[in-house]
Amino acid sequence: MPIPVAHHSLMREMNEIAVMTVVRQHAPISRRQIAEITGLTKSTVTVAVQRLFAKNILMERGTVTAGPGRPEILLGLNPNAGFLLGAAVDVANYQVLLFDLQARILDQKVMGFDPQTPAHDVLDALVQDVVLMYQHIPRDQYWGFGVSIPGIISPTGVVINAPNLKWRHVPVRDYFLNRLEAPVFVVNDAASGAVAEYYFGNAQHSDLLLYLSLGMGIGGGALIAGKLFEGVSGAGTEVGHMVIDDNGPYCRCGRRGCFEAVASLRALTERAMRIRDIWHWIDLDAIVDAFNHEEDWARQALDETLRYLEQGVTNLANIFDPDTIILGGPLSQFGPYLSDRIGSRVNRDMMSAEHRAISVRLTSFNGFTSAFGAGAMALNTAVKVRL
Ligand SMILES: [Zn+2]
Repeated sequence: MPIPVAHHSLMREMNEIAVMTVVRQHAPISRRQIAEITGLTKSTVTVAVQRLFAKNILMERGTVTAGPGRPEILLGLNPNAGFLLGAAVDVANYQVLLFDLQARILDQKVMGFDPQTPAHDVLDALVQDVVLMYQHIPRDQYWGFGVSIPGIISPTGVVINAPNLKWRHVPVRDYFLNRLEAPVFVVNDAASGAVAEYYFGNAQHSDLLLYLSLGMGIGGGALIAGKLFEGVSGAGTEVGHMVIDDNGPYCRCGRRGCFEAVASLRALTERAMRIRDIWHWIDLDAIVDAFNHEEDWARQALDETLRYLEQGVTNLANIFDPDTIILGGPLSQFGPYLSDRIGSRVNRDMMSAEHRAISVRLTSFNGFTSAFGAGAMALNTAVKVRL
């Protein structure tokens, strides 16, 4: 049976993306090294490199002499080849970022809003700010835009439900497609965290990455060979609502004992209040500070929360069988104590523990993680769009 032509161009795109990814991760790098890392043949690498050169995506970065023969030319990404726009909407603010292929920020804006603001007012303001940055990018260097939302997103870019924003059935992608050139991506915030870590952060060599956003809720994102796992309806990694203890406390979803009801920042704070027998809300900064000063109440509240966190993350590790788990979100402020505790439990109780270890690490971003990841969604399509 003849192979459809579409497959050829798809293969070509995939090879170019593979080469571009390896160059971004390892530059300066020679063609020979690219072939070794990607497993592609020399001639396939040569063709992909030629095409990427023609699109101005690659540039020469000097030479190296490796053994006898001619010196090898080293390649790197042309940082000015493309610019990405990313935005992240959170409960009371949004962020907009303009950055280049090495994740260097060229422009940024953070804007607060009243949590009661209707969705279309937030989006109107956000679109204006995004368009202001968009207008400064030469069209042939514009690669795309993505926005992250803490909620469930349909494959067509409609926010089905974002409980903390109180958004339901909001056609976010259409807002931006009316004002910007495609591609426009709308992504769940934890999913975009995974994308950010894969392209620019602590998981650039991962084949199966799990990113967990540990905040007032718990969100998850999974990247399998660089592709987002989203499920059929876009709700594929709603890890916060797997039930850990069905006699546990009520969750905001209405059920009892969900992972985020027992292991989130909210659960930690409520434990700290109970231990200290006080009625006012304690800020995370105060808990982290007390923990760093070895105060018993903070250690106890964190340890009780960690019991559930360890259990939940181990369950996820057994389902996804990842090589890397990245812990992001506000609770990552507890630093190596958090990642070490979760890492040792996962690697003790994981079914595959006997033959390999899972790397459990903290996020490499202090802020803007989701905005970077949302913008980086355009990286995979950039090669295709520009053919
Ligand atoms: Zn729940």
